[in-house]
Amino acid sequence: MTSPAIQEIFQEAIRAAIPDALLTPSEWASTYRYVSQGPLRGQKWSMDPVPYLTEPLNCVTDSRVRTIVFWSASRVGKTEGLLLNAAGYFMHIDPGPFMNLRPTLDDAKLFSRERFSALVEETPVLRDLMEEPRTRDSDNTMLYKKFLGGYAFFAGANSPTGLRAQDFQRLLADEIDDYPLNAGGMGDPLDLANVRLRNFEKEGLALSIYTSSPTVKGRSRIETAYNDSDQRRLYVPCLGCGEMQELVWSSIVWSELGREPKDACFRCPFCRHIGEEEEKAEMIANWEWRAHAEFKGTAGFKLLGTYSPWITWGGMAEELTRAVRAKSYEKYQVWCNSTLGELWEEGEGLEEEEISFHREEYAAPVPRGVVLLTFGADTHPDRIEVEVLGWGLEDETWSIEYRVFYGNPNQYPSAVWEDFEDFLLTRWQHELGVEMTITAGGIDTAGGCTDGVYKFCKANQSRRWWAIIGASKPGKPIAPKKPSIVGPVRTKLFTVGTEAAKDKAAAALRVIEPGASRCHFPITYEDTYFRQFTAERRVPSVHLGFHVWRWVKIKAGTRNEAWDCRVYNIFARENLKPNLERLTERLMERVAAAEEKKRQEKEAGSSKSTDDKGGDRATPTANPRQPSRTTFRIPRRRGGFVKRW
Ligand SMILES: [Zn+2]
Repeated sequence: MTSPAIQEIFQEAIRAAIPDALLTPSEWASTYRYVSQGPLRGQKWSMDPVPYLTEPLNCVTDSRVRTIVFWSASRVGKTEGLLLNAAGYFMHIDPGPFMNLRPTLDDAKLFSRERFSALVEETPVLRDLMEEPRTRDSDNTMLYKKFLGGYAFFAGANSPTGLRAQDFQRLLADEIDDYPLNAGGMGDPLDLANVRLRNFEKEGLALSIYTSSPTVKGRSRIETAYNDSDQRRLYVPCLGCGEMQELVWSSIVWSELGREPKDACFRCPFCRHIGEEEEKAEMIANWEWRAHAEFKGTAGFKLLGTYSPWITWGGMAEELTRAVRAKSYEKYQVWCNSTLGELWEEGEGLEEEEISFHREEYAAPVPRGVVLLTFGADTHPDRIEVEVLGWGLEDETWSIEYRVFYGNPNQYPSAVWEDFEDFLLTRWQHELGVEMTITAGGIDTAGGCTDGVYKFCKANQSRRWWAIIGASKPGKPIAPKKPSIVGPVRTKLFTVGTEAAKDKAAAALRVIEPGASRCHFPITYEDTYFRQFTAERRVPSVHLGFHVWRWVKIKAGTRNEAWDCRVYNIFARENLKPNLERLTERLMERVAAAEEKKRQEKEAGSSKSTDDKGGDRATPTANPRQPSRTTFRIPRRRGGFVKRW
């Protein structure tokens, strides 16, 4: 029944027997439409490659349907097969004004110039309807195309002018997940567009089609629209047992069968039948959309990339493998949203079981992988909390020590600052036999001790002990291009993009494999320390009309200083922009020099070695008051009065 000859006869019969007005949109497409894109351009349109589009397309003439929602992967034919076929049908059979809404105005122009023009050029019945673009005063422009009985508008969701221009009967809104929340300060672009539909709505003639590949769970427009629909999903039969089922990603296998990703195939969860790529066409030819919610005027369709005639299961598996190998969250998200067509679920925060609580016995206070030390300090009216962090190649980190200094940091000079300064000047014993000092760090000024921190940082400006403040707005870089100068002592103040720094901290804390970005902790750290990392959650929020994520404390009063200190360490690293490879080389040079010196001393019969230091330093957190057992420090710099005012 699917052979082209029979199909042609069938279509001829339809054409002869029924007036055009009774054609369904899919029959219209098969009768009048010509392909307007790709290698088949100019050939007669056929629903055969995309049989599953028949039902969504035919919904456009179903008088009960007010809205069609089509959630899909990017390569399933939605623009050509659904939107442009619907547009052609409207123009030819049931003319009226319609709006093509795209994410941006540029995109709308491109769509008009490339896709819409090609549709009209290749399809004679549509070409005949168009008003000839005669002269300069022609009604037809890039964003406005007049045809017999109606007109087509093109607008960008980022530009409210086009949206408010005229009333229209039908809205074809594509890639709605890419629309801004607010169109140029005038409100939600979809709301603005829907206002223009109202006059036709009253007469029951309005129709909206929303299509998109999804984005992030919880802030996806297509997800919201689909959830309000009757939620149809596509079922196809297994050619082994005939069981109707969805082509879910878990049914696509390769490594389980000892295959390469490119040879991925379908494995039926009911009968274990193995279906090669070649079976896909026959499976989807026997499609059936099944609704999973009550119909209330919105027909919703969700279609994964696994059904696509244009990308093989092997191709999908290869793309996924590449993203996983690259350890790239971004690539994986693109695969998930576009190739597969599923929502991307972001971690809403660090879960206790997510963080590697794995603590390690360090062979020395500073383990061998560390080539740079930074610190991040959080201030409170009664204390300073600080984490010293060691950085290695590819941002692998080792927490070196976490300490609390009690006293009022707003008083400067004072004992608490003296102790803190001593601590920051510690010479740490490196596993490779050399000593290491802190290179840079940031101290928060927002803890009610602003004056004290300003003075301390001003006095220690040359040491790269930076005064910092969290950015109040999201979207800021982790470290600013340059600091501002603030306060009575004219301190340099750095604004930290805390949201970005927290994203980075959370991503690193989730890494479980040793190497790039992995976070290591010493054996002495207690569970209470790690729990502070889970004190905040990432929640969706709106800033200037855009969806953003913000880290917020779950409960006021929860302790999260360890988390903040980590974030400030990430700032210090970003602000310093170290060349970690170069630092590694330099460390190795120092180690070689130290060994050479030791060898020479030994040869010279020097009996007193300096080897007995370090190695046993604990990194206490259980009792932050516990005195440091740091063995070697350089004497505290006794600055002059001027430096300590
Ligand atoms: Zn089966």
